[in-house]
Order: sequence, then C-alpha cells, then structure tokens
Amino acid sequence: MMVNVRIFDTTLRDGEQTLGVSLSPDQKLAIAKKLDDLGVDAIEAGFPVISEGELKAVKMITSEGLSCEIAGLTRTIKKDIDAAVDAGLNYIHTFIATSDIHLEHKLKMTRDQALEKAIEAVEYGKSRGLQVEFSAEDASRTDREFLKKVFGDVAKAGADRVNIPDTVGYCTPEYMAEITRDTIESTKLPVSVHCHNDFGLAVANALSGIHAGAACAHVTVNGIGERAGNASLEEFSMALKCLPYEQNYETRIKSELIYDTSRFIAKIVGIIVQPNKAIVGANAFGHESGIHTHGVLNNPLTYEPISPELVGRKRWLKVGKHAGVHGMNAMLKEYGVSPTEEQAQQILDKVKVLGDQGIQVTDVELLSMASEVLGEKNSKELYS
Ligand code: MN
Repeated sequence: MMVNVRIFDTTLRDGEQTLGVSLSPDQKLAIAKKLDDLGVDAIEAGFPVISEGELKAVKMITSEGLSCEIAGLTRTIKKDIDAAVDAGLNYIHTFIATSDIHLEHKLKMTRDQALEKAIEAVEYGKSRGLQVEFSAEDASRTDREFLKKVFGDVAKAGADRVNIPDTVGYCTPEYMAEITRDTIESTKLPVSVHCHNDFGLAVANALSGIHAGAACAHVTVNGIGERAGNASLEEFSMALKCLPYEQNYETRIKSELIYDTSRFIAKIVGIIVQPNKAIVGANAFGHESGIHTHGVLNNPLTYEPISPELVGRKRWLKVGKHAGVHGMNAMLKEYGVSPTEEQAQQILDKVKVLGDQGIQVTDVELLSMASEVLGEKNSKELYS
C-alpha cells in the first residue's frame, strides 16, 4: 500500500520572506504556474492583507485556473480573512503563536486569549465558506499539553487541517514525531508539518513527521525561506521517492522537472543555490576525483545514489589535481580526442601541475593541453 504524501509548497509565501526577496505579481504568477506544472498538491500564494501588490498577485493566481489547490496566509484576524476572500481564495492558512515566548513578548496575550482568537478565526473562516488550515505558530516551543488543547479545540471549531510549524527549527526528528502523534490523536484531522532549517534538520524533521502519520509537508523550492530557510521540496520529495526506508510513500511531483524549476526560481528570486546543495546544487552530479570518476564510468551507481536524469540533470566530469586517467580520457573522447596511454599520462601530469597551483582546469584548457601533447608527438613522428 502506497501512502500519498501531500506537498504544500510555500515558495511564494515563506520563500518570499527570504531576506532581500520581493516579487512582482507577474513574477509570482510565473512561479505559481511552474509549481503547478511540477505537480505540487497545494501552493501558498501569499499573504493577501500585507499590500496591494500582494492582493493583486494572489488574485492573478486564483484566476489562472491552475490544477493545484491555492491557499493564502492570514493572521487570526477578520480583516485578513476578508482580504483572502477578496483575493478569490477558498482556502486559508491561518495562524497564531502559542508558545509562551511569543505570547509574552510579541502578542502580549495569555494562552487563553490566543486560544480564543484561534477558535474565532476558524469559525469565521468556515462561516465564509473557506477550507481552513490552522497553524499554532512556534508549536515546537509551545507547552506540549497546551498545544494538544489548542489543536483539539480548533478541530472542534471546524478546522479542516492543522499544521505544526517548527517556526525556529527547534525540533529534533524524535520530538517532531511525538508532537505529530499528539496532534493526530487530539484532532483526527490531516496534519501538516512546516519545518525550518536553522539546525539543518528541516527535511529530517519533515520526514519524521510523515513517519509519525502526518499527511502533508510544507516545503519550498531550493529550501528558501525565513533565515536558514524551509524544508526543501527537492530533497524531501526525492528522499521519499528514492530512499529504501521510504519505499511506501509517494508524491505527485514530476521529478524530471525539478532541476528546471529550481533554476527558474533561483533566477527570479535572485537567490543563488549553493554548489553543494543536495539534488539541485551545481556539484550534486559532478565528479572530479579519479577514483570516483572511474567508478561512475564503469557503473554510475557506484558514486551516484540516484541518476541525474531522474531530476532532469546530466552528470558531468571535471579534471583537476584529483583526476584520474579514465575520467580525463572520457572527457577527451567527447571532443573526439583519443590519446595513447603515454600521451594520456603526459596530459594528466600537466593537469595536476595546474591543479596543485589551485587552478581549475576548464574543458578548453584540457583540450589545449591535449593538443600540445599530441602535437609534440605528431611533430616528432613527422620529423624523425
Ligand atoms: Mn515558516
């Protein structure tokens, strides 16, 4: 029995809250279409009440006839929910903080007051005919018994879904599993997990939530989002697709579109993907070391846990101080150059001299070194 895991993409909301990112309505619409093509189940299109432009962007997205569900963020405030309705939304993600630190220092409310606001918002959203997903912001730092009560009470008030935000990335996989089980028990509703990457655990925590019975993960493309970002769509969905422990799970993501989507979004939002980023980083399918390159040329599975084609990419080889003759010859062969064993060794020696000086050897430089070696050899032959 395969379990379908719902992908709720928040690139257009939490992702847009990345430092230095601000998108125009046209850019947001372009990203929404791309996410719909990728196969996400739902997108969080924005936070309609925050600005005219945001309202317009969400309206454009809700008018586009996309096949995914479209949600908008609201506080537990009537005017936010009204703005969501004005933006053409029929699905809201409404939130209020429940941790003592947020209640005391941000909201200046008691636990009971926050709970009352949560219930009012859920009831109001339902009275306006909306699908309501409720988030207890900073859930992972919320008193565990109070968190259970909040989720239980909003479920009774009519919420359709509840979300567990690990707002500051404070969870371990173990604790995420525990509060996920608590939440399922107290609500009997589909539960989402929203994990931040402050300790690099966002994807691990999201997977742990799923193992504990959560139905959905909130993710962003390239893992963008507040501070260190959110659980990344590409890592989370490929882990579910490929890792042996996850073989009972599936998503609707069309994995072969992942790389193209990642590059499209990186370009629009202007956030460069780190080269060593899993799945979508420049180096994720590159090989330089002689031992690795030799292995990959014999059988890619030796050093590639997944085929690059699965995420719409190609493997690439590079030469440098770690290079070996097999990888270098494979690269030269692509340009129709086939050195003898002795020539190959001479070319490789030149590559390593440069590599030891910290110089990156490009394909053009490799070819020029090869022609030096082959040229010398040929001229000796000609004139001997
Ligand atoms: Mn967040």
